[in-house]
Amino acid sequence: MIRMTKESVRQIEQHGEHTYPEECCGILLGVNKDGVQKVETVIELDNNQDENRRRRFFVTPKQYLQAERMAVERGLELLGFYHSHPDHPAIPSAFDTEHALPCFIYVIVSVAEGKAKSMTAWLLSGTRERFDERSLSIEKSTANEVGEQGARVENSDK
Ligand SMILES: [Zn+2]
Repeated sequence: MIRMTKESVRQIEQHGEHTYPEECCGILLGVNKDGVQKVETVIELDNNQDENRRRRFFVTPKQYLQAERMAVERGLELLGFYHSHPDHPAIPSAFDTEHALPCFIYVIVSVAEGKAKSMTAWLLSGTRERFDERSLSIEKSTANEVGEQGARVENSDK
């Protein structure tokens, strides 16, 4: 299972809406524990695919190294990547399957007529033949968690 906060989901949706009708892409950093991948930070990347930005995304080796370094700096892991499908469903394309790396999460958001619609998460099979869909759990915002902590501090003072 993959867990993301509402803020992370909204950040990806807004990136996809902003770059529409071109694809957006970015990096997912987080923690991989007990079979659950929790996304902590979403980092936007420029789309480096020159010839057809509407249908393809490409993370350059330099961006990949930057992503690895940012993960280490934050004490997080590089969990995977996200990109948008302008006016296409949130299902991996043949191009995605050919260019993806096993063991990384691929989050896809479909953007129809400039508005983000559905979001899905995928993992490439070990044989690299197909993507398997993973459940995506969206959690309440970090702001709420801070609020709860604040309430607990208040109670302990009484
Ligand atoms: Zn794609």
